[in-house]
Amino acid sequence: MKDKKDPLGEDVGFVKGVGPKRANLLARMGILSVEDLLLHIPARYVDRRTLRRIASARPGEEGVFLARVETSGLRYRGSSRDAVAVVSDGTGVMELVWRNAPYMVNNIRQGMSLLFWGKIYVGRARVKTIYHPEYEAFSGPAGVERSLVAGRILPIYPLTEGLQARHLRAAIQNALLKLRDDISDVIPEELRTRRRLMPRREALSQVHFPDDLERAEAARQTLAYEEMLLFFLRFLGKASVEKERGFAFAPPGELSERFRRSLGFTLTRAQERAISDIERDITSGSPMHRLLQGDVGSGKTAVAAYAVVRAVESGGQAAVMSPTEILAEQTYSVFANYLEPLGIRVVLLESSLSKKKREENLALVEKGLADVVVGTHAIITEDVRFRRLVLAIVDEQHRFGVAQRAMLLEKGKASGAFPHFLVMTATPIPRTLALTLYGNLDVSVMDEKPPGRGPVKTKWVRHGQRKEVYRWLFGEALAGRQAYVVAPLIEKSDKLEIAAAEELYEELRAMAPVGVRFGLMHGRVPAEERRRMMEDFRRGNLHILVSTTVIEVGVDVPQATRMVIEHAERFGLAQLHQLRGRINRSQETAYCILLTPSHLSEDAEARMRIMCETDDGFRIAEEDLRLRGPGELMGTRQHGIPEFRIADLMRDIKIIRAAREDALRLLREGDPLSDPRVASALKRRARAEGIWVG
Ligand code: ADP
Ligand code: MG
Repeated sequence: MKDKKDPLGEDVGFVKGVGPKRANLLARMGILSVEDLLLHIPARYVDRRTLRRIASARPGEEGVFLARVETSGLRYRGSSRDAVAVVSDGTGVMELVWRNAPYMVNNIRQGMSLLFWGKIYVGRARVKTIYHPEYEAFSGPAGVERSLVAGRILPIYPLTEGLQARHLRAAIQNALLKLRDDISDVIPEELRTRRRLMPRREALSQVHFPDDLERAEAARQTLAYEEMLLFFLRFLGKASVEKERGFAFAPPGELSERFRRSLGFTLTRAQERAISDIERDITSGSPMHRLLQGDVGSGKTAVAAYAVVRAVESGGQAAVMSPTEILAEQTYSVFANYLEPLGIRVVLLESSLSKKKREENLALVEKGLADVVVGTHAIITEDVRFRRLVLAIVDEQHRFGVAQRAMLLEKGKASGAFPHFLVMTATPIPRTLALTLYGNLDVSVMDEKPPGRGPVKTKWVRHGQRKEVYRWLFGEALAGRQAYVVAPLIEKSDKLEIAAAEELYEELRAMAPVGVRFGLMHGRVPAEERRRMMEDFRRGNLHILVSTTVIEVGVDVPQATRMVIEHAERFGLAQLHQLRGRINRSQETAYCILLTPSHLSEDAEARMRIMCETDDGFRIAEEDLRLRGPGELMGTRQHGIPEFRIADLMRDIKIIRAAREDALRLLREGDPLSDPRVASALKRRARAEGIWVG
């Protein structure tokens, strides 16, 4: 798909120095067009002025070195083989070691010059050593000379196997030279000036071959802004600024007043703020699109229940959708507790209901006799007809796809107008990410917990002391306290996970003194039994609930204040935080024990330490993002969340926000998508498969 009028859209194979073979390698990294190549920005730069000398580098420090390979070969370590290179820069020698990677000797050969960087350790015979250094190899001193001197600041690119850095660098340089006169701005002039961004041509050249590191960063920011502006223009689209008609609720009346009085607690300031945000939306006449975001335990359910009461008060129905059956049941019982005393009728719809019960409930919904429907996907995927759906609430949205959300809205439209839409998420995600995840949602953040809630006291204990942990837990149970014990997470196998929970359950029952009563909970416990067990647990008839991660979200049994998580190292941070949120729902101090083997990866240790250090969900979310990268956070990858080439969801918060604001304004004021420069930029991007979803 060549486009004569658009040189940037040309195949990358036409760039001097690329050719078909390298074009194939580049394609593996999603680089198809010349523009893709130019937007393949360096992961970092090596400033030649920052080169360290081996003699003065101390263990524990990190540094960039340039040295000659004196020898390279294999070293045996037990049954495994390491590749080892001894390098020298004239001031001293250092060893570079690639463990279990014998093939590395083919890449690192005697006489080569190596530019490498990493952290220095004390290795064998007290020689300074870097393990698995990142490096760039040059065949001889001349190459080093040219590349470093000419480059001044050397761009270091993400590579793919078989593609050499110097070839990539040369290709980019050639593309820039050839296209100098064809690169024109995508960002409208007025925005570029106001946001103090570089012209595109300058940005592309400075990001690859910067005059200094400040300019490199400014160039990167320009390109990140451009990327996000285009993303939002396309993702939000014209539709997002067109006014849809929604239900305008009458002001709060007697029913919502009674609801407030019936709560038995005073709403926190954060809850009141969220409620007035919602109030503004639902009385405005346009549909609400709001994300209610708050740490676990911040009291989102009460806020959601308020919105439901308002819907009913206005003569409409509300739907509440949960990601799992267990959670739907929980939500159902919590909503029923809040609402039935006020005469509001709540029904549960889920696939495990008996046929008769289901039909009964469906009829109630259709006739408008049920005010609130709680359920799983069943609510939208099946033949449910509402009489007048005015409010849709989705709990833990991150587990739902965009398509399902659209279907839910369709249900509403079929019954009159566009319903108000409230999304609750208990995973506090950095605001930027929320914006990109949820596009056009307004956000209410609840950053406060109900009074008297301290942090969950969290302790990391190694398996050596496992017995003591359980002795303590059983003592607590006998004193009448309640607990969850979470069985190890076994990724991708429900069956094994359930087996692990069963085994743990048997083990603990055998260990425990008489009088400690256990329950076993997992995703395959039949619905009836599950409900009964949760009820028993809620009433205090069971002390310890051994469970798989099915209790991760939404379970609300305030008097359960103890938790043990087996093999905590297998869980991600967000998940651990969600789990322990289950036990921080009353004034009593909550204790969470993270059990792990004694040897952990560095990452896992970092996670355990963060968990013990902080109970702030926002901080944990940021750490999580930092440790895992945005793509893996909450499995967003599976949900069609775009990955960005340049913008960094953590670092570029301000840029992303600005781009979104500007995109909305452009959409409101005109038709930016038909601007030829924007249109061709979007067209080029659409081609870079897998990067733009939606
Ligand atoms: P979230 O859904 O945000 O995790 P919930 O709405 O389930 O939190 O509330 C957690 C617990 O705190 C529940 O037991 C709820 O009854 C209680 N709660 C909610 N708001 C308040 C408040 N303002 N004061 C005291 N307790 C509250
Ligand atoms: Mg909740």
